[in-house]
Amino acid sequence: KASISPLKKIQNTINSYAEAKNREIEVLQKNEAFRREFIADISHELKTPIFAAQGYIHTLLDGAIEDYAVRDKFLKRAAKSLNNLEKLVQDLIILNQMESGVIRFTMAPFDLKEPIMEVMEQLEDKAQKRGVKINFQYQKDQSYRTLADRDKIYRVFQNLVSNAIKYNKEGGEVNISLKNHKNHVTIKVKDEGMGIPPEDLKRIFERFYRVEKSRSREKGGTGLGLAIVKHILEGHKSKISVSSAVSKGSIFSFDLPLAKPAGSVPDKA
Ligand code: ADP
Repeated sequence: KASISPLKKIQNTINSYAEAKNREIEVLQKNEAFRREFIADISHELKTPIFAAQGYIHTLLDGAIEDYAVRDKFLKRAAKSLNNLEKLVQDLIILNQMESGVIRFTMAPFDLKEPIMEVMEQLEDKAQKRGVKINFQYQKDQSYRTLADRDKIYRVFQNLVSNAIKYNKEGGEVNISLKNHKNHVTIKVKDEGMGIPPEDLKRIFERFYRVEKSRSREKGGTGLGLAIVKHILEGHKSKISVSSAVSKGSIFSFDLPLAKPAGSVPDKA
C-alpha cells in the first residue's frame, strides 16, 4: 500500500483548513449583507413617520396654525405619526433582543384563557370602531393550563388579534378558539378579512414584510408584529402556521403544551 508522504499530509491539512476558512468567510459575508439590509430597512421605516410629523409641524409653523380646524387636525396627525414611531422603536428593541438571544423566557403554568380575555378587553374599542365582533370558544369543563412565558404569550395574542381586527372586513368577526389534545392545546385566531395571497403567505413572518405597505402603515402597523410572534413561539419550541383565502379571511394557529391542572396530585415517582 502506498503511504501518504509527510509533505502530502501537511498539504491536505492546509487545504482543509483553507476550505473551512472560506466557509467561515461566506457566512460572515452573508451576515454582513443581512445587517446592511436590516439597517437600510430600519432607516426607511423610521423616516416615514418622522417626515410625516415634520411635514405637519412645518405647515403649522408656516401659518396653518392660525386656522383652528386645521391646527387641530394637523396636531392630531403629527401626534399619530409620533405614536407610530414609538411603537416601531419598541418593536425593534424587542425583536433585536430576541434575535440576539438576550431575552429570557420565564416559563410558569397559567390558564391560557386569562391573557386571551385580557387582550379581548384591551382591543375592544379598536374592534368596535370597525364594527368587528370578537368571539372566544372553549369548553367550560376543560383545563387550559399551559407552561409558557405569560407576558410573551400575551404579546402573541395582542399581535394576532389586533391584525385580525385591522385586516378584517367592516363588521366582520374574529374567532379565537382553544382545543385540547392529549398533551397540547391548539390555539386558533380566525378572521373574515381580506386574506393573504398565496405568494405572500410564506413571507409575512419576515420583518417589515407587508402585503400592502400603504394599507398597513395607514393602520398603524410596524411590519414587525408577525416576526415577533414567530420568535416568541420559537422560544416555546412551537411554530405559527397560517392558512388563508383572499377575500374570505385567514386562520393563524399554534400549539402550546398542556400543564397539569392546579392542585392536581403529582405523579408518584
Ligand atoms: P403589520 O404591522 O403591518 O400589521 P405584521 O408583521 O403584523 O405587520 O403583519 C405583516 C403583514 O401580513 C401585514 O402588513 C399584512 O399585510 C399581513 N397580515 C397579517 N395579518 C393578517 C390578517 N389577519 N389578514 C390579512 N393580512 C394579514
